Amino acid sequence: MKKKSASAKEAYRLADLQDWSKATQDVDPPIRLGVFGDPVAHSLSPQMQNAALKHCQIDMQYVRFQISPDELREALKLIRDLKFVGVNLTVPHKIAALKLVDDLEESAKSIGAVNAVKNNGKLHGLNTDGKGFARAIREEFVVDLRDLRVMILGAGGAARAIAMQCAKENCERLVIANRTLENGKNLADELRDFFAGPRVLGPVARLQAIAWDEAAFRFQIGNVDLIVNATPLGLNRSDPSPIPARLLAPHLMVYDTIYSERRTPFVSAAVEAGARGANGLSMLLHQGALAFEIWFGREAPLDVMRAAL
Ligand code: NDP
Repeated sequence: MKKKSASAKEAYRLADLQDWSKATQDVDPPIRLGVFGDPVAHSLSPQMQNAALKHCQIDMQYVRFQISPDELREALKLIRDLKFVGVNLTVPHKIAALKLVDDLEESAKSIGAVNAVKNNGKLHGLNTDGKGFARAIREEFVVDLRDLRVMILGAGGAARAIAMQCAKENCERLVIANRTLENGKNLADELRDFFAGPRVLGPVARLQAIAWDEAAFRFQIGNVDLIVNATPLGLNRSDPSPIPARLLAPHLMVYDTIYSERRTPFVSAAVEAGARGANGLSMLLHQGALAFEIWFGREAPLDVMRAAL
């Protein structure tokens, strides 16, 4: 029988995993990796990971799986039985997976979310978003987090990974601005111990949660170097920049975790203000490369993955 090519399908489903558990998979090269999400059609991970697999002559492929929250438990069990190498998890599965894997690596435990799973008979939950972000900042701005005063916009999953990485790398200062102040305060409280050291920064606090308003942004901007958008503001073409250009200043580095081919509203605002800006493609690339390295225990072909994106 002629084998099917996975590229013919936009996304596989739980039913496909169930079929494969009963009969041999008729896909060539066999599917042994993927991303679970709902929605998942927008994910760029397959093109990046498949380019890496091809380059490294690993005879398997990576596809999208449209998996709803109530299907996640069974889908994870099936990839273990089907001897998948692993999967990535995206919205809305990153937190739910904490309870569904066999064990959690430190990265997933401290961030409180799983973005990648490695299967070796047991499912190991890990998180490469934080380290991927640090590598992206180094690549985009040639600077390490430990030298920076950082303001993060948002306190959800992506913000948690980024805030934890900034704390672990002992950044100079961390400000969390969130629409729901309470959520920002809770995240800051979790990080309190990392910032208890003797470093003195003059009149501003080393760790702070602030309200989402113009006066608060205006005050902080003179006291931060890097601003990171970790909210979905900018996903829609009509979204405003989370901080208007008139408040931004030329000394700033602006990183938008949202990735798109066109400039995001936040990166456009940064450029308009004479600041440097970059979008989240580099974070996507590096979290993916780190997952590849964990799955295969070898260096990821970064340039090949970058070109594929
Ligand atoms: P979550 O839903 O977990 O968190 C969303 C956060 O954004 C919350 O803090 C929420 O605030 C805030 N927010 C939502 N809507 C608005 C709004 N209209 N105005 C202001 N604040 C708002 O999402 P994630 O953290 O998982 O994802 C956030 C973004 O990060 C996504 O857009 C995604 O594209 C990007 N991302 C990029 C990655 C990459 O590799 N480049 C990796 C992971 C994520 P509140 O607490 O008030 O609800």
